[in-house]
Amino acid sequence: MTTIISEEPVDLLLVDDRTEDLLTLTHVLAGPEYSVSTASSGSEALKRLMVQDFGVILLDVFMPTMDGFELAELIKQRERSQHTPIIFLTAAGSDMPQIYRGYSVGAVDYLTKPVDPDVVRAKVAVFADLFRKDRRLKRHAEAMREGERRQREVMLTELRHAAERRYMNLAEAVPLSVWTAEPNGQLTYANRYWTEYTGIALDEARGMGWASAVHEADRDGYVNAWHEAIGKGAPFQQECRIHRIGDGVYRWHLSRAVPERADSGEIVSWLGTHTDIEESKQAVFARDEFISIASHELRTPLTALKLRLQSVLHSRDLSEKTERRVESAVRQTERLERLIDNLLDVSRITTGHLELEREEFDLSDMVQDVAERFREQAAGGGVPLSFEASGPVPGNWDRLRVEQVVTNLLANALKFGDAKPIFVSVTADAKTAVVTVADQGIGIAPEDLSRIFHQFERVIGRRSFGGLGMGLYIARQIAQAHGGRIEVDSVQGKGSKFRIVLPR
Ligand code: ADP
Repeated sequence: MTTIISEEPVDLLLVDDRTEDLLTLTHVLAGPEYSVSTASSGSEALKRLMVQDFGVILLDVFMPTMDGFELAELIKQRERSQHTPIIFLTAAGSDMPQIYRGYSVGAVDYLTKPVDPDVVRAKVAVFADLFRKDRRLKRHAEAMREGERRQREVMLTELRHAAERRYMNLAEAVPLSVWTAEPNGQLTYANRYWTEYTGIALDEARGMGWASAVHEADRDGYVNAWHEAIGKGAPFQQECRIHRIGDGVYRWHLSRAVPERADSGEIVSWLGTHTDIEESKQAVFARDEFISIASHELRTPLTALKLRLQSVLHSRDLSEKTERRVESAVRQTERLERLIDNLLDVSRITTGHLELEREEFDLSDMVQDVAERFREQAAGGGVPLSFEASGPVPGNWDRLRVEQVVTNLLANALKFGDAKPIFVSVTADAKTAVVTVADQGIGIAPEDLSRIFHQFERVIGRRSFGGLGMGLYIARQIAQAHGGRIEVDSVQGKGSKFRIVLPR
């Protein structure tokens, strides 16, 4: 018989309605290896089982109200106690069917009363021993699980650190400035490239120290845009010139930053970059410079050519055929003139030289004039063009520039209008005047709607239309120079409605 005393005792439950039997058993099983509890009825035993698990249960078969068999069945039904070994106590001379019944309801052994102390101790010891082994195995498994969990945690922490190290190494290795900032915009980290480029060490750059590298002329606008992005929690994008310590020049950069968010959605930091875009900026400058020079150079001989053609047209000795040909040549020079004027406007806008010459005039009158001019051309293609105005709309705008915008929208309506009716109107309230040009033509895809107002943007479709994509860009710049805007509603295949909104 083995008893392990160093372990905590095994809990035993003795159930018997006879107090003296309970006392005898308690006495027999007294010792450090057991902790004995007693119950004098089935219901009391069940109550105890609710709050405590036992290693072995000794159960008297003959008890009033609930006998041992019924109690055993209930014990076996409960999940917590279904594996607890039950030893039956039967009266001496009990017949075999009694004993079989005991086994059938889940007993593992039986003892006869009056009990032989040595037999009781021996039988209980076997099951207590099994119970201890089981308990040890369970604890061991638990300890293993706990160990594995700890190991996994350590591994995850190591992986996290490794990922952070890699991210840092990456940030240090890339050939552009990388930085991070707190949610309030204060810089917390800038990579080596930043320090080498600007000569500003990380400690100086921290907080808002980095701003000293931004060109004075760009600084306020840049910092304002940065604070605006922080306020909105929206991605930041801004161009600015940044000082390069190596040669002391300022070079154009595109700065971008995105917020990093926790699972809860709250911003935990900002991750940003500055990319040197000096070369592409220079290319754009060179293009605009070329456009400006080329359009001036083209205009001079073209004006001379047009004057020559017009003078030929005015001479009397032309045959009808020649006259038609020269007229057509004049129209072509006029088209060329319009293209060149647009190019000139684009270069004026990019160099900030678009100036307005305001005067008092009636917008309804002016738009009607433009519509009349187009009516003939429209009628030639069988396109009805209607005009409507709520009355005179006087205002102070640049007459030629607004006329240019309306002309442009009407030319587009004819070009993209699919030969369907075109509708032009002027409306106004106390604050704004609105010119609407609506067609029922090919329309514009939603993804192209904002693009068409940019420089040299055209929609590439199955059918090709001529054009350099300057008209709407210029139109929008003119509207904006007036403090107004251009809006468009369009459904592909159904038509487009452009609105010039001008403040009065
Ligand atoms: P373009 O000289 O190419 O006409 P615009 O700037 O005037 O240049 O227009 C840009 C592009 O917008 C056009 O190429 C065309 O794809 C689209 N667009 C402009 N107006 C209309 C319209 N009324 N209907 C459909 N598409 C239009």
